[in-house]
Amino acid sequence: MSPKEQIQSLRDELREHNYNYYINDNPTISDFEFDKKLEQLKMLEASHPEFYDATSPSVRVGGEITKNFNTVKHINRMYSLDNSYSIEDLQDWETRIKKIVDGDIQYTCELKYDGASISLHYENGKFVQAVTRGDGNQGDDVTANVRTIKSVPLQLKGDDIPAKFEIRGEIVLPWDGFHKMNEERATQGLDLYRNPRNTASGSLKLQDSAEVAKRPLDCLLYQLAGDDLPIETQFDSLTLSRKWGFKAPKESKLAQSIEEVFEFINYWDIARKELPYETDGVVVKVNSLRQQEELGFTAKAPKWAMAYKFAAEQVSTRLEEITYQVGRTGAITPVANLAPVEISGTTVKRASLHNADQIEKLDIRVGDEVYVEKGGEIIPKIIAVELSKRPENSVPTVYATHCPECNTPLIRKDGEAQHFCSNELGCAPQIKGRIEHFISRKAMDIDGIGAETVGQLVDAGLISNYADLYDLTVEQVLPLERMAQKSAENMVNGIEASKQVPFERVLFGLGIRYVGETVAKKLAKHYKNMNALLAMPPAPEKENLDLFADVTSPADKKKEELTAIPEIGERIAETVVEYILDQHQQQILSRLRIAGLQFELSATQLEGQTDKLQGKSFVISGVFEMSRKDLKKLIEDNGGKASSSISSKTDYLVRGENMGPSKLEKAEKLGITMISEQEFLEMV
Ligand code: AMP
Ligand code: ZN
Repeated sequence: MSPKEQIQSLRDELREHNYNYYINDNPTISDFEFDKKLEQLKMLEASHPEFYDATSPSVRVGGEITKNFNTVKHINRMYSLDNSYSIEDLQDWETRIKKIVDGDIQYTCELKYDGASISLHYENGKFVQAVTRGDGNQGDDVTANVRTIKSVPLQLKGDDIPAKFEIRGEIVLPWDGFHKMNEERATQGLDLYRNPRNTASGSLKLQDSAEVAKRPLDCLLYQLAGDDLPIETQFDSLTLSRKWGFKAPKESKLAQSIEEVFEFINYWDIARKELPYETDGVVVKVNSLRQQEELGFTAKAPKWAMAYKFAAEQVSTRLEEITYQVGRTGAITPVANLAPVEISGTTVKRASLHNADQIEKLDIRVGDEVYVEKGGEIIPKIIAVELSKRPENSVPTVYATHCPECNTPLIRKDGEAQHFCSNELGCAPQIKGRIEHFISRKAMDIDGIGAETVGQLVDAGLISNYADLYDLTVEQVLPLERMAQKSAENMVNGIEASKQVPFERVLFGLGIRYVGETVAKKLAKHYKNMNALLAMPPAPEKENLDLFADVTSPADKKKEELTAIPEIGERIAETVVEYILDQHQQQILSRLRIAGLQFELSATQLEGQTDKLQGKSFVISGVFEMSRKDLKKLIEDNGGKASSSISSKTDYLVRGENMGPSKLEKAEKLGITMISEQEFLEMV
């Protein structure tokens, strides 16, 4: 055998053993023999560097160093999941989706693994890249580290593998490995790791991949993504990925009905305690990919999936003090300061109390023994008070009357749960909070400034609002503590670069109450530029004495104009108009305009956008020539609204092939105009 053939045969053999050991849980040789063969391969590779291959089993030992993790934009967005906490929640979900899809629905039940989500990319059967979830739109490239995880196949098996695809899953640290790592830490006198999840995600960001290789990480994969994949259901995709060599969890099950989903949940609520890794719930997914496509996504999560969270662990502890936090909008949040207590592996010292009503409802008092609950990512919350243990001298809680930061009397508007500090311009956390929001990743994404720097800049009197950022110079910021020439330059360059950030993100960055990312996008799309958004309708003529004349105020007219935009409600309209009429805010805004920020949609964003379908509502159903996604985009680009279920408000039903009978019947009953794909295309 030539060295090349020898290397090849060793690689094939070791790959098979890896698969048997890590995926199939069924090793056929001893660890000792495996190590011997691996040593042999490493030696051969060392003397024949010309045969280097990034997918060789020898790369598992790591060695590559990553100094900075590159940011990578996800080709397919990594969504979050909606949560449910009861059987009723799940039943409601089924009722909702049954209004949208036709026919019976089968569900794939999977466990919800508590680790670090990951997206793996494969090309021509080879592993090429691993990216963390990040914010869902972009994550970090952690390829070198993930390559060392033994259950991530570097080379796939079989001959039906798509040229290019992505697979998503979770990198977890099984309990066994976690405890071993902690034993090791203990012998070295080091702090123990808190929980497997944080340790798993921390591992992905280590610079030295050889360190990662030593950690007993595992990778469970449950979701294929890509174009033209040879699958029709979620359950098949699990079977297929398993065949290709991925560790697709075998606990998954196909349920014929929501009742079978409940059985799965009840079973695992108990059985999960025996699992080698941590799970915090079940993920229920509509099995048919066609039905999934029909259901689509909300801004955050697929409508075709639902996480069910097992009841969270509860502990009791003492409430030592109630303090108050001021948010960027002036909203006050009461915070419970607790005697430190351990819940699900983390120490909890603080919990949110939400608002005055919540405190009153629970009659919660300093000195009380309280029950605290923590589920997954959520901030711990207090769910009850142990009245039997209440100290005798206990006094009812009196809610704060003044802002803890600036001492302004707090106000509470009718019908609102939250108290507010109205001192917008003089209350430090509000000033800082608004600037922090403005520079944040989803808004202006200004590199080179963090929350801490904002604090320094405000305290030094260099800025008091976000428009001031655009006047900052390197010389001004250099005297700040811990500010080097390089970081000062980075900061000023970052601010300059933000002038190219698209209009909708500028709008989001302004921090108008209730104008989140999605609303900002809608407003930008509707008005197309800042002037149109700000323009107030003319005032009614004063001298008109006609009793029946239109005397609606400009503010009310503007609100009407705003609420006419789909999905913009009263609350949003109210705060937008308030913002437009606020002289101070308008001054700041005009300084942003002069600084050169994007105040209108770009030419590319405007391309293909018309008002042709303005005010018309469409439902698409069935299979089409073009993808449903493109079809929806066409509707929206032309000013129409694409909704998922038929109602009396629907104007057109775009009818594809194999449309479900119940939708058809409903459309006929309501007398909705049905058009073909071709007819629709002619409309636009
Ligand atoms: P959350 O972080 O609570 O929004 O939940 C969404 C996350 O759950 C996803 O990003 C995944 O990382 C994770 N997850 C764990 N198990 C599954 C599963 N079987 N299917 C989908 N997502 C899962
Ligand atoms: Zn204040």
